[in-house]
Amino acid sequence: MPQEFLSGVLDHREFLRVKVELGRCDVCNTKKAVYRSHEAQTSLCEGCYARLVRGETRGRG
Ligand SMILES: [Zn+2]
Repeated sequence: MPQEFLSGVLDHREFLRVKVELGRCDVCNTKKAVYRSHEAQTSLCEGCYARLVRGETRGRG
């Protein structure tokens, strides 16, 4: 449920870029996570973070 996951629940300002190994992105579960929110206990990849920043909470169809 990635869309719901990003739908206003997460604030990109809570995410910090980190250099430690985070594993897979929690949203797409495909790419390598590079942003981490301690608050949300969530890791995001570049792409999902960018979408969050742009407020694209609803993807395609
Ligand atoms: Zn992702």
